[in-house]
Amino acid sequence: MNGDVIIVGGGPAGLTAGLYACRSGLSATIYEKGYPGGLAATTDLIDNYPGFTEGVNGMELGDMMKKHAERFGAKIVASEIEKVWRDDGVKVSVKGETVPAGAVIVATGWSPKKLGVPGEAELAGKGVSYCATCDGPLYRDKTVAVIGGGDSALQEAIFLARFAKEVKLIHRRDEFRAAPFLQKTVEDNDRITPLLSKTVVAVRGEGGVDGVELEDKKTGEKEFAEAAGVFFYVGIIPNVGMLGPEFDRDDMGFIITDDRCRTSIEGIFAAGDVRSKTLRQVVTAAGDGALAAMSAYSYLEALER
Ligand code: NAP
Repeated sequence: MNGDVIIVGGGPAGLTAGLYACRSGLSATIYEKGYPGGLAATTDLIDNYPGFTEGVNGMELGDMMKKHAERFGAKIVASEIEKVWRDDGVKVSVKGETVPAGAVIVATGWSPKKLGVPGEAELAGKGVSYCATCDGPLYRDKTVAVIGGGDSALQEAIFLARFAKEVKLIHRRDEFRAAPFLQKTVEDNDRITPLLSKTVVAVRGEGGVDGVELEDKKTGEKEFAEAAGVFFYVGIIPNVGMLGPEFDRDDMGFIITDDRCRTSIEGIFAAGDVRSKTLRQVVTAAGDGALAAMSAYSYLEALER
């Protein structure tokens, strides 16, 4: 049987898929264009991955998962997969070259959504950021703004409050959607100031961020919130640029699979946050990776028979 599995993406889902594929006797190559661990690796403290009673740094966890997959023979290649498709077999394209595979597992996760307000793109990297773990330490004793009301916004606001003098947590509604535990932690942190029912109209500054212009959703009043840095956490978009329209997706573009991680295209599986699903966590991504690898194994074994 062609036991070669190509895994697109080296986050928790992809690395776990590699581990399980290799342990089943398949050969697994994981393509990762960034660093192992995916977006989870940019998280300072992952506090809900079982077994790590005191939490674990995302980069350390990514590194451990990489070494674990490699221990069973997974190969990790630092390249981007440009296309995944099926014609007379399952194929991927990497650096313009077509590579056939027995099965492909897409585990590419998501990227942060842009809000699209004036000043956001112009000041990106000059005070506008999408990664508190990367840029937070630059704002020691300064005021920063975090935009959003989901798990990411609250988790990163809590992280930033370790450095910043004040974190203005700006959300468009008057209640957060984040997990209650995160809401309680924010409430108890006197360095975090929630500014609710406010939308960001623009990011202001010349060559650096001075603050954000806000509009109150109830009164329509405008105000300026001073901040030396702005961190946007307004949602996520799936990394599916390598897939054609033949793949079934949900309204937000995430890949629809069945409960065995099979996509609408035979021999191509999806795992982790890129799947259409209700809970996006490292633990569910790892679970998906295991399941997708075992489904790929069953698929290849059935082909052989
Ligand atoms: P999210 O849950 O989609 O939340 C996005 C937030 O941005 C929402 O509060 C939303 O407001 C707001 N928003 C969206 N569009 C906006 C706009 N145009 N203007 C202003 N605000 C806007 O995204 P996320 O927080 O990045 O989380 C993504 C996934 O990762 C979730 O499944 C989450 O559970 C998971 N995650 C989990 C953890 C953890 O467990 N510790 C940490 C990080 C992420 P509304 O609420 O009004 O819609």
